[in-house]
Amino acid sequence: LEEQVRHAQKMEAAGQLAAGIAHEFNNLLTVVAGYAGLLERRLAPTSVERSSPDLLHRYARDILTAVSRASVLTGQLLAFGRKQPQQLAPLNLNDLVLDAVRMLRPLLEPHITLVTDLSPDLGIVVADRQQLEQVLTNLAVNARDAMPKGGTLTLMTLNVWHEARPETRSRAMFRRKAVRDETMQMHPYVMLAVSDTGTGMSEEVRQRIFEPFFTTKPVGKGTGLGLSVVEGIIAQNKGFITVESEVGKGTTFRIFLPRGELLQAAPAGS
Ligand code: ADP
Repeated sequence: LEEQVRHAQKMEAAGQLAAGIAHEFNNLLTVVAGYAGLLERRLAPTSVERSSPDLLHRYARDILTAVSRASVLTGQLLAFGRKQPQQLAPLNLNDLVLDAVRMLRPLLEPHITLVTDLSPDLGIVVADRQQLEQVLTNLAVNARDAMPKGGTLTLMTLNVWHEARPETRSRAMFRRKAVRDETMQMHPYVMLAVSDTGTGMSEEVRQRIFEPFFTTKPVGKGTGLGLSVVEGIIAQNKGFITVESEVGKGTTFRIFLPRGELLQAAPAGS
């Protein structure tokens, strides 16, 4: 438990620091983007004066590209650090997946096939829709990056029964018998699985993926915050996440959210 508290405090402090820096940084980026955009337009090659203005125009465009990458990073930092007020509502994860598929297609095409396998009578969850959209996006981007030569991304939903898992990383607690007896009871969950046929990851990497700033991607590509954000969001929505991965075969993330069956039975319009 001590370990857990220390971890939570560390995450909280890292989150506040990250959000603080991201906020200041964002303001500066707005200025840089503004002037770079101005330059880019001023230096746009005209048919009259060619040659050297072309090169300057390209420099201005490169600045804009770098700025837009930097703002993706600050966006992620803000998401990681911010304790956003949650907007909880009953939600069918199938709807969320179908919407997400529409959004994600352009991100994945042409070399990645997107497959959905949705349970027809899926239970309802009570969760923050926007947060879960972010979860799906982060997992899909990771899956894409793990399949540079193409592959299949599968989104699957299912009603399952699972023992309650208060925290993904508190396995040690389960060895204590009292805790185990209480938590081994099965509870109804909705599961959303995100699988790819990509590179997979080694045991060493797998152990660290939820750490903030842990990344194996080249500088400028990875922030190491995607899965920290995912884990934080899932915990905030009273669920948990598991990962299974095999090098050379692929990776499956499974998200478990508590099923809200009573809400499903509430009469419409009440
Ligand atoms: P980032 O994507 O910026 O590196 P994340 O927290 O999202 O940050 O991921 C951390 C690391 O976890 C990645 O750098 C990668 O090594 C590993 N990872 C995450 N998802 C996958 C996946 N689907 N397949 C293989 N490795 C993955």
